[in-house]
Amino acid sequence: MSNTDTADKLRIATCSLAGCFGCHMSFLDMDEALVSLIEHIEFNRSPLTDIKEVKDCDIGLIEGGLCNTENIAVLREFRAQCKIIVAVGACAINGGVPALRNHLDVQDCLKEAYVEGIGVVDPQIPCDEELPKLLKQVIPLHEVVTVDYFLPGCPPPAEAFVEIVTAVMEKRDARLPLKLRHFD
Ligand code: SF4
Repeated sequence: MSNTDTADKLRIATCSLAGCFGCHMSFLDMDEALVSLIEHIEFNRSPLTDIKEVKDCDIGLIEGGLCNTENIAVLREFRAQCKIIVAVGACAINGGVPALRNHLDVQDCLKEAYVEGIGVVDPQIPCDEELPKLLKQVIPLHEVVTVDYFLPGCPPPAEAFVEIVTAVMEKRDARLPLKLRHFD
């Protein structure tokens, strides 16, 4: 049985916007450190819990940049419900791989993917009104909301996640040594 009451636990939410889930995989790479942390943390909205709505969290860890209108809505919801927002990984910090499309016209990208690309069998650009609209460019989180911490890397190392969560738990600033934020 846990020694920490649920009310005392750090509430963490995570999501992947325009990302590849590699940052989430790296978070889980903390292996046995997660076992000791789990006494003190509780996951709210996250692919790890399948909870769909973020609510009253201490930390929001956000992987991926913003490529469509739904990404922006989710990010704003996280900002409203999390005391601390962490931009996790290159895609959240500067757009990363998805931002490679930024020098191309959106319609040209859609045509290439759904109409003219190799192997397309039923050429048509999806247009259901429930689908989120693509932004003209993929943009980083801090262009839309205030970001409290940036965890660099593609993905950031597991130790960086441990440090940021531990620092918030201990109510101190996170300290990321060079080896956790410099990549050759
Ligand atoms: Fe994937 Fe790298 Fe982007 Fe993280 S930063 S979502 S690992 S491409």
